[in-house]
Amino acid sequence: MTQAIVNLLKKLSNAYGPPGYEEEVRQIIISEMEKIADEVYVDNLGNVIAEHKGSDPKIMIAAHMDEVALLITHIDKNGFLRFHTLGGIDPRVLYSQEVMIKTEEGNIYGYIGAKPPHLLKPEELKKAPSIEQLFIDIGASSKEEAEKQGISIGSTAVFSPRFKELGNNKVMGKAFDDRAGCTALIEIMKNIKDTSCTVYAVATVQEEVGLRGARTATWQIEPDIGIAIEGTTASDTPGTPEHLTSTKMGQGPAITIADRSVIAHPKILRKLIETAKEINIPFQFKRTVSGGTDAGVIHLTKRGIPSGVVSIPCRYIHSPLSLLNINDLENTIKLITAFIQKEEK
Ligand SMILES: [Zn+2]
Repeated sequence: MTQAIVNLLKKLSNAYGPPGYEEEVRQIIISEMEKIADEVYVDNLGNVIAEHKGSDPKIMIAAHMDEVALLITHIDKNGFLRFHTLGGIDPRVLYSQEVMIKTEEGNIYGYIGAKPPHLLKPEELKKAPSIEQLFIDIGASSKEEAEKQGISIGSTAVFSPRFKELGNNKVMGKAFDDRAGCTALIEIMKNIKDTSCTVYAVATVQEEVGLRGARTATWQIEPDIGIAIEGTTASDTPGTPEHLTSTKMGQGPAITIADRSVIAHPKILRKLIETAKEINIPFQFKRTVSGGTDAGVIHLTKRGIPSGVVSIPCRYIHSPLSLLNINDLENTIKLITAFIQKEEK
């Protein structure tokens, strides 16, 4: 396990990045990319595009900066905040979580509350509270007090940052989907400095609300090949039958054959498999066809871009915390690095 990679993942995981508000993550990526890429720029939507200049083919690798988040839609007279979700969050994971709201006055912490369990009717106790029944308590006792702390309608919240190293190469933190991919993006750019082909490392915005940033980024770049790097569901946990286990932690990068958004181009798929075998790293296939990634819009750009997806298996994505195995992240970096180097003329 490389401590430098763990430290970079920690920094990215703890950064604040709701869809559309990826600034903190963007600044980390820009400062890392400026040390290694030939050119770094930000497009009108906020995607970071880092270019390694070279000859054809043009390869685009992409990871998204945003994380699932909450959007404050109402402040009541007693200072409680109501919200909607930005991106897919199972309402069952929200109750009694700590959240962080970034405001111009600083970071505010809050707790997601609901009607206390001892006041619930027996039938209500059987169900998790719905989003409409939940509220964020920031300790304010009036609307004015909440506003004085910098909260307004349109403020956003994320699950509180609390990255931890668990031992045995495992780490736990928020937003590994897709800060694990962002970590890989930076490390791959370091590794391919001497490659002859052109590589665009793109940190995209607003993936969680519909693969939006990748759309404008790909249109500008017009790559010959696209690879999305994702933090995907690992379901190697109690209660999931073997045939429904999408990926397993510790068994290497997960190569997608098909998901809801893309069918990996056979040429790219074959090359990813060949490369993994040649460099002798473990790999697995993503065995369910659920979910979508930036590759879903990359491959549909202009005349079509042959694309694929490589994912780092993460347990409990889109919840307050995820777990991943650093070996899987390191092998993902190795696989995509070798894939790019294989394209050299
Ligand atoms: Zn993702």
